Amino acid sequence: MSRIPRIVILGAGYGGIVTAIRLQKELNYNEADVTLVNKHDYHYITTHLHMPAAGTDDPNNARVSILKLIDEFKIDFVKSTVVQIRPNEKKVILEDGTLSYDYLVIGLGGEPETFGIPGLKEHAMNIRSINSVRLIREHIEYQFAKFKREPHRKDYLTFIVGGAGFTGIEFVGELADRIPKLCREFDVDPSLVKIYNIEAAPTALPGFDPELVQYAMDVLTKKGVTFKIATAIKECTPEGVILADGEEIKSSTVVWTGGIRGNRLVEEAGFEAMRGRVKVDEYLRAPNSDHVFILGDCSLVMNPDDRPYPPTAQIAMQQGENCAKNLVASIRGSQLTSFKFDNKGVVASLGKGEAIGIVFGKKMRGGVAAMMKKIVDMRYLYIIGGVPLVLKKGRL
Ligand code: FAD
Ligand code: NAD
Repeated sequence: MSRIPRIVILGAGYGGIVTAIRLQKELNYNEADVTLVNKHDYHYITTHLHMPAAGTDDPNNARVSILKLIDEFKIDFVKSTVVQIRPNEKKVILEDGTLSYDYLVIGLGGEPETFGIPGLKEHAMNIRSINSVRLIREHIEYQFAKFKREPHRKDYLTFIVGGAGFTGIEFVGELADRIPKLCREFDVDPSLVKIYNIEAAPTALPGFDPELVQYAMDVLTKKGVTFKIATAIKECTPEGVILADGEEIKSSTVVWTGGIRGNRLVEEAGFEAMRGRVKVDEYLRAPNSDHVFILGDCSLVMNPDDRPYPPTAQIAMQQGENCAKNLVASIRGSQLTSFKFDNKGVVASLGKGEAIGIVFGKKMRGGVAAMMKKIVDMRYLYIIGGVPLVLKKGRL
């Protein structure tokens, strides 16, 4: 390769933006042409989206202008939507053009996984992006307004959250905090409002520490959430949901938090994928594709027991760091570094002032965990935008 190598990064989520930020620090001028493509001109802080979805925070607080994070002298930003990846031609097709690459980084994130459950795609909403949470927030408020005109329609005040994984749990925590305010605003008796969190597995937060799961369920139940555990959603209809035991719950609001898959463009590109996630090699490259790195929710990294690590922002960011290092090494012809996930733990919010977590092996709950959640959030802001971003978006 005698000309300057071209690096194209698809997606400015956790994996993509960290790759771009690290590359701009490491690369010398004219060492590579780096292009970052994202469908919006902002990066969104996915880990905050449960708050604007419920309406306890403004959606604008969960987004950051990409141009404020990158050095435009080192990285070209292209606001566009990727429509196809053609690895054989080393090309990416955008909605409005084509990009050629020597090295490709795929960080296009995940999509809701509906497991073929009828009606979910058509009738349920998802917590995935700024646009999707704006819709949920407005929709919830609108249900209260509609109820005042049709007080016999109790389904307007019934909110169903399908899946009690971390996304579902964090969302119901915020929603339960928001409901009293909406009741006051719309003069609605709070006892008429129902929030159901429905989970197919025998427990909420399957696989997580049982003591902390119980704590979370107790906190959320006290806030007004009704759990239906070991109860799968079988169908979603315009009128609500039908459960595996045949029960029908009428609701005009179904939010599906039942799981995610990798971006469909990845499997459409011909990479061998399991639910849109590609099992990458130790350097995060797609199999038999030395020039394609796959990060975050589109990738599958195995733990020492050969089970996939859950797709999280934490792993995506660490992958971004590793990928940037390996891109620089590839360009300079030096040795690549294997990716090793350093799992610092998990902290999940249960609404205002409440959370659960395991950090560096230590269990925490309540106010201490809630404070830890904020510290984790601020650490991320610091990594991508330094002190100015912490001051602008961080909150204790
Ligand atoms: P993403 O961050 O999803 O970014 C993908 C990017 O690609 C986006 O900018 C998107 O706009 C862009 N894009 C997508 N398609 C296209 C296209 N066709 N063309 C152009 N651009 C495109 N993980 C944690 O570790 N801790 C947490 O506390 C936590 N909380 C969460 C809370 C919620 C409510 C949710 C939903 C998830 C949470 N997660 C958390 C999981 C975490 O957010 C994801 O694992 C992480 O965002 C994955 O990062 P990524 O880089 O793969 O993709
Ligand atoms: P998930 O896959 O972790 O959880 C989905 C839940 O939905 C599961 O418990 C599953 O049993 C349930 N489910 C599936 N089908 C169902 C059905 N038909 N009816 C009822 N329940 C059903 O998905 P998620 O919660 O969106 O999380 C996605 C990823 O993001 C995970 O890796 C998670 O760890 C991460 N995340 C982390 C945090 C945090 O660290 N605070 C917050 C949110 C998400």
